[in-house]
Amino acid sequence: MIHIPFDNQFARLGEPFFAKAQPAPVAGPTLIKFNHALARDLGMSVDGVTDEELADVFSGNTLPAGAEPLAMAYAGHQFGHFVPQLGDGRALWLGELHSASGERFDIQLKGSGPTAFSRRGDGRAALGPVLREYIVSEAMHRLGVPTTRALAAVATGEEVARERPLPGGVITRVARSFIRVGTFEYFAARGDVDSVKKLADYVIARNYPELAGNEKPYEALLAAVISRQARLIAQWMGLGFIHGVMNTDNMSIAGETIDYGPCAFMDGYSHQRVFSSIDHTGRYAYNSQPGIGLWNLIRLAETLLPLLAEAPDDAVTVAQTNLDAYKDQYEVAWLAGMCAKLGLTPGVGADDEDRALIAGLLDVMNESEADFTLTFHELSRLGAESSTRDDNARRLFARPDQYDHWLVRWRGRLKREPQNDAARQADMQAVNPVYIPRNHQIEAAIRAAEDREDYSVFHALNAVLQNPYVEQAGNERYQLPPAPEEVVSKTFCGT
Ligand code: AMP
Ligand code: MG
Repeated sequence: MIHIPFDNQFARLGEPFFAKAQPAPVAGPTLIKFNHALARDLGMSVDGVTDEELADVFSGNTLPAGAEPLAMAYAGHQFGHFVPQLGDGRALWLGELHSASGERFDIQLKGSGPTAFSRRGDGRAALGPVLREYIVSEAMHRLGVPTTRALAAVATGEEVARERPLPGGVITRVARSFIRVGTFEYFAARGDVDSVKKLADYVIARNYPELAGNEKPYEALLAAVISRQARLIAQWMGLGFIHGVMNTDNMSIAGETIDYGPCAFMDGYSHQRVFSSIDHTGRYAYNSQPGIGLWNLIRLAETLLPLLAEAPDDAVTVAQTNLDAYKDQYEVAWLAGMCAKLGLTPGVGADDEDRALIAGLLDVMNESEADFTLTFHELSRLGAESSTRDDNARRLFARPDQYDHWLVRWRGRLKREPQNDAARQADMQAVNPVYIPRNHQIEAAIRAAEDREDYSVFHALNAVLQNPYVEQAGNERYQLPPAPEEVVSKTFCGT
């Protein structure tokens, strides 16, 4: 029998924080993938459990012992507009567990049927976005980015009504918390300061235990969330990742990447790249992400104002002071990450000089729409002296003259580096991935699954992405950008 060591503290917070719900059974659940390594890390035991039983549990047809299913309440700013009630409309929190490492994690089904928060939605998920979230969230983890994890993907054997009927799926996600900025907004908008405080206390105990004895715990919480988000978004930027829907309900209080909808890794670089079919104004474009991160954190700070100081003016000052730190923290994290990508030891060059060198490369890439991942990959194989290998990167640029010019600048800077070529290349290769989940490959995995019930493409892609920083013989094609006919220029969030 499946054993999950539940210890459901969130469920003790009481009703305003959630609405109890039950999963709605599905007709023919089949297991597509179960993440055994993650299950082990979490301290779950599935010894002797069949795929059929796993499919039953992770479709919601059978509840595991100790689960207390509920839909979490939250609000959120969607594309800048406040919606006072969103909540888990198609997700179901099963419980909270104490992992083998001592950390606590939430387990949640997504696509398991309607809840009190479903509004007009069916509470279901289509199979395609389930596979997409599985691939991308697990790849993010392997790339070293804080993220929710994927524990299981199940096909329901039922269709969901979207623009056309599509096969349905359920994904099981694991997070350090499913509490969002929008969860705080839900209570703040109702003037329910007591609940904001209760929520903050829960988050501190759960995700920021080091702040528990702090003299000013709520200010410390705000500061800590700001700093985790600054570092998270800097990591996204260093990988060419575009979240796509950075609404406040999709920003985790624990600083993890959450809610993989129309997200994408860029192939050809553009400063303002957008994929999401619903992001008409480019609000969540690549280069806009750091600024949107701050915008969302300001919304969080507003909800905490009554807890930050007695006098409203003082509270605003406290919030402002902490929010002011975001830009610096982001810049520091971004610069450190980008310097590492280019083999530049911090402190060897002046920060301004290194920043200009990095910006110069991004500008040249932007002009040529050079492939983001391949550009850094090829640079991490170059020596300090020019060689025939330079051509590998040059081929990625529609304007090779601009690339040549930048390369001379970079090599000038490398001359001051203490490391030799081999050591620098090894360090660069450790942070510049060979493989990212490219959109066209995700699309191919979804097409095979949807059209032919063939999951082999999904499994193969997932396997390659387990080791993103190491070249894998025989898997060269996974490095390639899409052929013209394979380009996916729009992504959709309708799970
Ligand atoms: P998301 O786009 O995943 O961030 O979801 C935004 C909001 O819409 C959340 O409150 C979801 O629970 C809700 N939602 C999205 N799709 C559905 C659906 N098919 N059924 C019910 N609620 C949904
Ligand atoms: Mg969401």
